[in-house]
Amino acid sequence: MKTAANMVVSIHYTLKDDSGEVLDSSSGREPLSYLHGHGNIVPGLEQALEGTAAGHRSQVAVEPAEGYGEANPELVFEAPREQFPADLKLEEGTRVYAEGPQGRITFRVVELTEKGAMLDGNHPLAGKRLHFDVEVVEVRPATKNEMEHGHVHGEGGHHH
Ligand code: ZN
Repeated sequence: MKTAANMVVSIHYTLKDDSGEVLDSSSGREPLSYLHGHGNIVPGLEQALEGTAAGHRSQVAVEPAEGYGEANPELVFEAPREQFPADLKLEEGTRVYAEGPQGRITFRVVELTEKGAMLDGNHPLAGKRLHFDVEVVEVRPATKNEMEHGHVHGEGGHHH
C-alpha cells in the first residue's frame, strides 16, 4: 500500500537542525502514526512521503516555509515585570500564555532583562530548516471514524 490521502502512515523519524543536533526522534518509542493529507505533520515532510510504501527510507530537508513557518519578529518583544503575575518565577524557558485574536498564544521567556523579560511567541522550530531521517513502517487505510476526526486512533495516535 502506498502513502496517499486518507491513509494512516506510521513512521520512525529523527529530526535534526542545520548543525546536526537531534531535536526530536521516535527512536525507542512506538512509531508516529498520522493521517496523511490532513496537515497533521509539517507540509514538507508530508509531501516527501507521498507515494512511499512500508520500508521506504529517506532523508528529507524541509525549508522553514514548509516546516513550522518563518519566525515572526512581531512575536518577540520585551515585557515589563509588572505585566507578569507577581508569584510567577521568571526564568529562561518559563512559559506564559496570552489570549490574542487567533486564540491562546504560548510565549517563552528567552532572556531576562533589567525591566522584565524578552518573550518569544514563535514555535520553537519556526525559521529553522528541518532535516528528517525517516522510515515508513506501515501504511494502512484510515477507518471511517479516523477520517471523520481527521486524526489517527489507537497505537501511536489519539486515545479517546
Ligand atoms: Zn478522534
